[in-house]
Amino acid sequence: MAEPGALEVGSRHDLRARRSPNAPETAGYEGGDQAHGWVHSYETGSTVDGPGIRVTLFMSGCLLRCQYCHNPDTWHLKDGTRVELAQAIRRLGDFAPMLRAMGGGLTISGGEPLVQTAFTRGMFAAAKQLGLHTALDTSGYLGVRADEGYLANVDLVLLDIKSGDPDTYRRVTGVELEPTLRFAERLRAIGKPVWVRYVLVPGLTDDPANIEKVARFVAPMKNVEWVEVLPFHQMGAFKWKSMGLDYRLADTASAGPDLVAKALEIFRGAGCHAR
Ligand code: SF4
Repeated sequence: MAEPGALEVGSRHDLRARRSPNAPETAGYEGGDQAHGWVHSYETGSTVDGPGIRVTLFMSGCLLRCQYCHNPDTWHLKDGTRVELAQAIRRLGDFAPMLRAMGGGLTISGGEPLVQTAFTRGMFAAAKQLGLHTALDTSGYLGVRADEGYLANVDLVLLDIKSGDPDTYRRVTGVELEPTLRFAERLRAIGKPVWVRYVLVPGLTDDPANIEKVARFVAPMKNVEWVEVLPFHQMGAFKWKSMGLDYRLADTASAGPDLVAKALEIFRGAGCHAR
Protein backbone atom coordinates (compact mmCIF):
# COMPACT_ATOMS: atom_id res chain seq x y z
CA MET A 1 0.00 0.00 0.00
CA ALA A 2 1.37 3.38 -0.99
CA GLU A 3 1.90 6.08 1.59
CA PRO A 4 -0.87 8.67 1.81
CA GLY A 5 -0.40 11.40 -0.77
CA ALA A 6 -1.09 15.10 -0.82
CA LEU A 7 -4.53 16.32 -1.74
CA GLU A 8 -3.97 18.25 -4.93
CA VAL A 9 -6.03 20.96 -6.50
CA GLY A 10 -7.11 19.84 -9.94
CA SER A 11 -9.80 20.28 -12.49
CA ARG A 12 -12.35 17.97 -13.99
CA HIS A 13 -10.34 18.03 -17.20
CA ASP A 14 -7.24 16.59 -15.59
CA LEU A 15 -5.92 13.19 -16.49
CA ARG A 16 -4.24 11.48 -13.57
CA ALA A 17 -4.82 7.78 -14.02
CA ARG A 18 -3.15 4.95 -12.10
CA ARG A 19 -1.62 6.98 -9.28
CA SER A 20 -2.15 4.25 -6.69
CA PRO A 21 -1.44 1.03 -8.58
CA ASN A 22 -1.90 -1.10 -5.44
CA ALA A 23 -5.40 0.14 -4.63
CA PRO A 24 -8.15 -2.49 -4.57
CA GLU A 25 -10.44 -3.07 -7.53
CA THR A 26 -13.54 -0.86 -7.51
CA ALA A 27 -15.93 -3.76 -8.11
CA GLY A 28 -16.28 -5.57 -4.80
CA TYR A 29 -15.03 -2.59 -2.77
CA GLU A 30 -17.81 -2.08 -0.29
CA GLY A 31 -17.46 1.33 1.22
CA GLY A 32 -13.97 1.01 2.70
CA ASP A 33 -12.89 2.45 6.04
CA GLN A 34 -13.12 5.97 7.30
CA ALA A 35 -9.42 6.54 7.78
CA HIS A 36 -8.48 7.02 4.16
CA GLY A 37 -9.81 7.15 0.62
CA TRP A 38 -8.70 7.51 -2.97
CA VAL A 39 -9.28 10.99 -4.31
CA HIS A 40 -8.83 12.06 -7.93
CA SER A 41 -8.64 15.81 -7.32
CA TYR A 42 -10.59 18.77 -6.05
CA GLU A 43 -11.74 22.08 -7.47
CA THR A 44 -12.37 25.33 -5.69
CA GLY A 45 -14.73 28.02 -6.90
CA SER A 46 -17.33 25.82 -8.59
CA THR A 47 -20.68 27.52 -9.09
CA VAL A 48 -22.50 24.66 -10.84
CA ASP A 49 -22.42 21.82 -8.30
CA GLY A 50 -24.91 23.22 -5.82
CA PRO A 51 -25.73 26.62 -4.32
CA GLY A 52 -23.08 29.31 -3.81
CA ILE A 53 -19.35 28.91 -4.34
CA ARG A 54 -18.17 25.38 -3.65
CA VAL A 55 -15.28 23.04 -3.17
CA THR A 56 -15.91 19.94 -5.28
CA LEU A 57 -14.10 16.77 -4.31
CA PHE A 58 -13.74 14.18 -7.07
CA MET A 59 -13.54 10.67 -5.64
CA SER A 60 -12.06 7.77 -7.57
CA GLY A 61 -14.03 4.64 -8.37
CA CYS A 62 -17.19 4.12 -10.43
CA LEU A 63 -19.07 1.01 -11.49
CA LEU A 64 -20.78 2.66 -14.46
CA ARG A 65 -19.17 3.06 -17.87
CA CYS A 66 -21.16 5.90 -19.38
CA GLN A 67 -20.50 6.32 -23.09
CA TYR A 68 -20.19 10.07 -22.58
CA CYS A 69 -18.17 10.00 -19.35
CA HIS A 70 -15.96 13.09 -19.03
CA ASN A 71 -13.93 11.48 -16.27
CA PRO A 72 -12.84 7.98 -17.33
CA ASP A 73 -9.69 8.70 -15.34
CA THR A 74 -11.79 8.31 -12.17
CA TRP A 75 -13.22 4.86 -12.88
CA HIS A 76 -10.76 2.90 -10.72
CA LEU A 77 -9.70 3.46 -7.13
CA LYS A 78 -6.14 3.11 -8.37
CA ASP A 79 -6.70 6.24 -10.50
CA GLY A 80 -6.75 8.31 -7.34
CA THR A 81 -4.30 9.45 -4.70
CA ARG A 82 -4.61 7.74 -1.33
CA VAL A 83 -5.50 10.48 1.14
CA GLU A 84 -6.06 10.44 4.91
CA LEU A 85 -9.55 11.55 5.88
CA ALA A 86 -8.13 13.75 8.64
CA GLN A 87 -5.93 15.55 6.11
CA ALA A 88 -8.83 16.09 3.70
CA ILE A 89 -10.92 17.51 6.56
CA ARG A 90 -8.11 19.88 7.56
CA ARG A 91 -7.87 21.09 3.96
CA LEU A 92 -11.63 21.63 3.83
CA GLY A 93 -11.35 23.59 7.08
CA ASP A 94 -8.93 25.99 5.36
CA PHE A 95 -11.67 26.85 2.86
CA ALA A 96 -14.59 26.82 5.29
CA PRO A 97 -14.69 30.55 6.18
CA MET A 98 -14.69 31.52 2.48
CA LEU A 99 -17.32 28.91 1.62
CA ARG A 100 -19.58 30.02 4.47
CA ALA A 101 -19.23 33.66 3.44
CA MET A 102 -20.14 32.81 -0.18
CA GLY A 103 -23.19 30.73 0.78
CA GLY A 104 -21.56 27.61 -0.61
CA GLY A 105 -20.15 24.40 0.70
CA LEU A 106 -18.81 20.99 -0.21
CA THR A 107 -19.89 18.86 -3.17
CA ILE A 108 -18.58 15.33 -3.44
CA SER A 109 -18.52 14.02 -6.98
CA GLY A 110 -16.45 11.54 -8.93
CA GLY A 111 -16.30 8.90 -10.10
CA GLU A 112 -19.02 7.80 -7.74
CA PRO A 113 -18.89 9.00 -4.13
CA LEU A 114 -20.90 6.00 -2.90
CA VAL A 115 -18.13 3.59 -3.90
CA GLN A 116 -16.19 4.95 -0.91
CA THR A 117 -19.07 5.37 1.49
CA ALA A 118 -17.01 5.41 4.66
CA PHE A 119 -14.67 8.18 3.53
CA THR A 120 -17.41 10.33 2.03
CA ARG A 121 -19.59 9.81 5.12
CA GLY A 122 -16.73 11.21 7.20
CA MET A 123 -16.27 14.16 4.84
CA PHE A 124 -19.95 15.08 4.90
CA ALA A 125 -20.13 14.83 8.70
CA ALA A 126 -17.05 17.07 9.01
CA ALA A 127 -18.45 19.57 6.53
CA LYS A 128 -21.66 19.87 8.56
CA GLN A 129 -19.60 20.43 11.71
CA LEU A 130 -17.84 23.25 9.84
CA GLY A 131 -21.25 24.80 9.10
CA LEU A 132 -21.13 24.06 5.37
CA HIS A 133 -23.86 23.14 2.91
CA THR A 134 -23.25 19.66 1.52
CA ALA A 135 -24.12 18.07 -1.82
CA LEU A 136 -23.74 14.50 -3.10
CA ASP A 137 -23.32 14.15 -6.87
CA THR A 138 -24.32 10.58 -7.71
CA SER A 139 -25.78 8.27 -10.35
CA GLY A 140 -27.84 6.69 -7.58
CA TYR A 141 -26.79 3.21 -8.70
CA LEU A 142 -25.29 2.54 -5.25
CA GLY A 143 -27.93 4.60 -3.46
CA VAL A 144 -28.73 1.68 -1.18
CA ARG A 145 -25.36 2.28 0.48
CA ALA A 146 -26.40 5.76 1.64
CA ASP A 147 -28.27 4.94 4.84
CA GLU A 148 -30.26 7.45 6.86
CA GLY A 149 -27.26 8.48 8.95
CA TYR A 150 -25.31 9.16 5.75
CA LEU A 151 -28.10 11.21 4.19
CA ALA A 152 -28.61 13.17 7.42
CA ASN A 153 -25.38 15.02 6.60
CA VAL A 154 -26.27 15.60 2.94
CA ASP A 155 -28.29 18.75 2.26
CA LEU A 156 -28.74 18.23 -1.47
CA VAL A 157 -28.48 15.28 -3.85
CA LEU A 158 -27.47 15.95 -7.44
CA LEU A 159 -29.01 12.85 -8.98
CA ASP A 160 -28.06 11.88 -12.52
CA ILE A 161 -30.92 10.06 -14.20
CA LYS A 162 -29.23 9.14 -17.44
CA SER A 163 -32.27 7.71 -19.20
CA GLY A 164 -35.89 6.91 -18.40
CA ASP A 165 -35.93 3.93 -20.70
CA PRO A 166 -34.21 0.90 -19.08
CA ASP A 167 -32.72 -0.42 -22.35
CA THR A 168 -31.21 2.95 -23.21
CA TYR A 169 -29.95 3.30 -19.63
CA ARG A 170 -28.17 -0.05 -19.94
CA ARG A 171 -26.71 0.96 -23.31
CA VAL A 172 -25.51 4.33 -21.96
CA THR A 173 -24.10 3.13 -18.62
CA GLY A 174 -23.60 -0.64 -18.74
CA VAL A 175 -25.80 -1.12 -15.64
CA GLU A 176 -29.50 -1.25 -14.73
CA LEU A 177 -31.74 1.80 -14.21
CA GLU A 178 -33.83 0.33 -11.39
CA PRO A 179 -31.48 1.10 -8.41
CA THR A 180 -31.44 4.79 -9.39
CA LEU A 181 -35.24 4.95 -9.52
CA ARG A 182 -35.49 3.24 -6.10
CA PHE A 183 -32.99 5.72 -4.66
CA ALA A 184 -34.99 8.63 -6.08
CA GLU A 185 -38.11 7.25 -4.41
CA ARG A 186 -36.32 6.95 -1.07
CA LEU A 187 -35.18 10.56 -1.38
CA ARG A 188 -38.74 11.60 -2.05
CA ALA A 189 -39.98 9.65 0.97
CA ILE A 190 -37.62 11.51 3.32
CA GLY A 191 -38.11 14.87 1.58
CA LYS A 192 -34.43 15.27 0.68
CA PRO A 193 -33.79 18.18 -1.70
CA VAL A 194 -32.72 16.90 -5.13
CA TRP A 195 -31.56 18.43 -8.39
CA VAL A 196 -32.04 15.88 -11.14
CA ARG A 197 -29.50 16.03 -13.93
CA TYR A 198 -30.08 14.79 -17.44
CA VAL A 199 -27.21 14.64 -19.90
CA LEU A 200 -28.57 15.28 -23.36
CA VAL A 201 -26.65 13.36 -26.01
CA PRO A 202 -27.77 13.64 -29.65
CA GLY A 203 -28.76 10.25 -30.98
CA LEU A 204 -28.45 8.58 -27.57
CA THR A 205 -30.59 10.28 -24.90
CA ASP A 206 -32.50 12.86 -26.95
CA ASP A 207 -35.48 10.67 -27.86
CA PRO A 208 -38.50 12.72 -26.68
CA ALA A 209 -40.22 9.54 -25.45
CA ASN A 210 -37.23 8.78 -23.23
CA ILE A 211 -37.05 12.32 -21.84
CA GLU A 212 -40.79 12.18 -21.22
CA LYS A 213 -40.34 9.06 -19.06
CA VAL A 214 -37.86 10.87 -16.81
CA ALA A 215 -40.07 13.95 -16.73
CA ARG A 216 -43.17 12.00 -15.69
CA PHE A 217 -41.24 10.11 -13.03
CA VAL A 218 -39.78 13.26 -11.52
CA ALA A 219 -42.66 15.73 -11.88
CA PRO A 220 -44.70 14.51 -8.86
CA MET A 221 -41.64 14.63 -6.59
CA LYS A 222 -41.98 17.76 -4.49
CA ASN A 223 -38.44 17.33 -3.15
CA VAL A 224 -36.98 17.78 -6.65
CA GLU A 225 -36.13 21.46 -6.80
CA TRP A 226 -34.65 21.48 -10.29
CA VAL A 227 -34.16 19.36 -13.35
CA GLU A 228 -30.98 20.45 -15.08
CA VAL A 229 -30.42 19.56 -18.72
CA LEU A 230 -26.70 19.23 -19.37
CA PRO A 231 -25.80 19.37 -23.06
CA PHE A 232 -23.28 16.77 -24.19
CA HIS A 233 -19.95 18.15 -25.36
CA GLN A 234 -16.65 16.63 -26.42
CA MET A 235 -14.49 18.00 -23.59
CA GLY A 236 -13.76 14.54 -22.18
CA ALA A 237 -12.82 13.01 -25.54
CA PHE A 238 -9.08 13.56 -25.11
CA LYS A 239 -9.07 11.39 -21.98
CA TRP A 240 -10.58 8.41 -23.77
CA LYS A 241 -7.95 8.79 -26.45
CA SER A 242 -5.03 9.15 -24.03
CA MET A 243 -6.22 6.14 -22.06
CA GLY A 244 -6.55 4.00 -25.20
CA LEU A 245 -10.28 3.50 -24.61
CA ASP A 246 -12.87 2.93 -27.32
CA TYR A 247 -14.76 6.24 -27.45
CA ARG A 248 -18.00 5.53 -29.24
CA LEU A 249 -19.19 9.15 -29.32
CA ALA A 250 -16.24 10.50 -31.30
CA ASP A 251 -18.53 11.55 -34.15
CA THR A 252 -21.42 12.75 -32.00
CA ALA A 253 -22.18 16.45 -32.23
CA SER A 254 -22.61 18.62 -29.15
CA ALA A 255 -26.19 19.17 -28.03
CA GLY A 256 -27.12 22.59 -29.43
CA PRO A 257 -29.48 25.20 -27.99
CA ASP A 258 -32.46 23.98 -30.04
CA LEU A 259 -32.16 20.44 -28.74
CA VAL A 260 -31.74 21.70 -25.17
CA ALA A 261 -34.80 23.93 -25.57
CA LYS A 262 -36.87 20.94 -26.76
CA ALA A 263 -35.78 18.84 -23.77
CA LEU A 264 -36.57 21.70 -21.38
CA GLU A 265 -39.98 22.02 -22.97
CA ILE A 266 -40.72 18.35 -22.28
CA PHE A 267 -39.64 18.63 -18.63
CA ARG A 268 -41.57 21.87 -18.11
CA GLY A 269 -44.59 20.47 -19.91
CA ALA A 270 -44.68 17.63 -17.38
CA GLY A 271 -44.59 20.16 -14.52
CA CYS A 272 -40.87 20.09 -13.60
CA HIS A 273 -38.83 23.18 -12.74
CA ALA A 274 -36.23 22.76 -15.45
CA ARG A 275 -33.23 24.79 -16.52
S1 SF4 B 1 -21.39 7.75 -13.46
FE1 SF4 B 1 -20.16 9.57 -13.87
S2 SF4 B 1 -18.02 8.96 -13.48
FE2 SF4 B 1 -19.24 7.08 -13.65
S3 SF4 B 1 -19.02 6.48 -15.80
FE3 SF4 B 1 -20.90 7.69 -15.63
S4 SF4 B 1 -20.32 9.80 -16.10
FE4 SF4 B 1 -18.43 8.63 -15.65
